[in-house]
Amino acid sequence: MTKIKDNSQIDLCTDFQDQASQALIRHKSILDIMAKVDQYSSRINRAVVKSATSCGCIEIHATKQNFDGQTYEDLADKVSSHVHGEICDNCRDVIEEEIGSFMFFIASLCNTLDLDLKDIIMKEYERNKTLGIYSLK
Ligand SMILES: [Zn+2]
Repeated sequence: MTKIKDNSQIDLCTDFQDQASQALIRHKSILDIMAKVDQYSSRINRAVVKSATSCGCIEIHATKQNFDGQTYEDLADKVSSHVHGEICDNCRDVIEEEIGSFMFFIASLCNTLDLDLKDIIMKEYERNKTLGIYSLK
């Protein structure tokens, strides 16, 4: 899923940040923005949980991850997301909407602190590209 090479996405990122700047009125305070980032982070998690507990389109079978005595290269194929199944279209719509709202407030946080979301994504992309599996994420 390495789609960052497409420059149109980078322009979209800048446009999105500009749009957030124009649209944010009611929650302009950085305190409101920080609270909204937390709120939508929780709403994303809740939407994923509801996919398992209410809809049932996915199941979560969590077990201990075994990191003992293996190289990072070996671990890549052995660790699990613990997700079985695929989210349905309805759950996908809900999760995408929550992530979109989360991103709006992340863009707003960047605007308030004079940070460039595009630069942040590019720096993270380059770190991950350089470190690969050794980014330890
Ligand atoms: Zn579902």
